[in-house]
Amino acid sequence: MRFLLSNDDGVHAPGLAAMAEVLAELGEVTVVAPDGERSAFSSALTLDRPLRPQRLDNGFIVINGTPADCVHVALNGLLDFVPDIIISGINAGANLGDDVIYSGTVAAALEGRFLGRPAIAVSLVAANARMLGIEAYRPAAARVGELLQRWPALELPPRTLLNINVPAGPLASHRGFRVTRLGHRAPSQDVLKLRDPRGHEVFWIGAAGDPLDNAEGTDFHAVHEGHVSVTPLDSDMTRYAVLDTVAAWLPAVTPSGS
Ligand code: MN
Repeated sequence: MRFLLSNDDGVHAPGLAAMAEVLAELGEVTVVAPDGERSAFSSALTLDRPLRPQRLDNGFIVINGTPADCVHVALNGLLDFVPDIIISGINAGANLGDDVIYSGTVAAALEGRFLGRPAIAVSLVAANARMLGIEAYRPAAARVGELLQRWPALELPPRTLLNINVPAGPLASHRGFRVTRLGHRAPSQDVLKLRDPRGHEVFWIGAAGDPLDNAEGTDFHAVHEGHVSVTPLDSDMTRYAVLDTVAAWLPAVTPSGS
């Protein structure tokens, strides 16, 4: 299998290196990743300046852009092949519930939706994930490797993405895989209102809110119980259940001139 690997923590992140190691054992891996941290960039594309790929000594390709830029450029001219799977991560920290809306990790995987094959976003659930070295990411990478070995048996519709959250800790601490739905978070913690060194007012956005819906069956619940959470996501955000409600509410429009 030919893998395209990206992330939102930047090309030097240990989670990226750990994932690349496992992918290299399973097939050919091409890494295209941002030149610095782009967490919470969601699907942002850079349109106001050119994107310049550079190959590092370890073979990884770095781009001065966002996670979505990396995958977009990789699939549209940078690579001379079509990857079988796009993998994003391993992110330093959870992407649970409402996190997926902001996540650059999820967005990089989502950018592969035009391939017609599912993509995978992987995150390590650890409050101190940013302080951890490559060793802490290896169990999560190994879990993704297990899933990839079963990959040919998985048939999913186009535009599907698997959002995987792996609890931190050794392999022996994982209780198994669980398919989950997204939970929900409470609103973010307070925005800090500060003064910069020159006395001007500035704001610093707070951390994600605590889980609000972490009932059994959610991604929050699964990782809390020590399971590897696997949530299938759809890039189609249509709320089908309310189409009729909105249709009944829309006013009639009299054609002009009649
Ligand atoms: Mn990140």
